[in-house]
Amino acid sequence: MRGVCGAGRAAATATCRDGGPDGVRQRAGRWRAVGRYDHCVSDCLFCGIASGQIPARTVRENSRTIAFRDINPQAPTHVLVIPKEHYADVAAVAEAGGGLLDEMASLAHRVAVAEGIGSGYRVVFNSGPGAGQDVPHAHAHVIGGRPLEWPPG
Ligand code: 5GP
Ligand code: ZN
Repeated sequence: MRGVCGAGRAAATATCRDGGPDGVRQRAGRWRAVGRYDHCVSDCLFCGIASGQIPARTVRENSRTIAFRDINPQAPTHVLVIPKEHYADVAAVAEAGGGLLDEMASLAHRVAVAEGIGSGYRVVFNSGPGAGQDVPHAHAHVIGGRPLEWPPG
């Protein structure tokens, strides 16, 4: 699934085309964003982060991708890399082409180097409920800073 989250923070006061009147709705008490924004998929947490409506600890950013710290880190470094546009999972990003998956991988590596874990880190895409994908907006976990066992759980 591809949506239209790409306008980023500059569009924070525009109107959401795809959601309710307030752009982001409350879910599980976690979403506190109010106001309207352009280029969003309603009820998508990571679209809200990409648009700046939902706060996150951003690590790095470029025009089509953004990296921010996971709210529940599983290692000293645990950063999520997402496309700013909405894709449901990594398969949708790959299918879309256009180098976006390359950009995600490149940003993941740049984050790892900047975090001082460039010599050993893991990039994980959980894809689908069977792999534990909870947030249906494509994202790569960049994990490192401790010994990483194999196989993963
Ligand atoms: P998944 O299980 O879908 O592969 O990973 C989703 C990740 O998103 C989890 O590691 C979870 O901790 C993280 N996450 C969930 N909600 C938030 C949030 O509101 N902010 C941030 N920064 N990370 C979140
Ligand atoms: Zn999304």
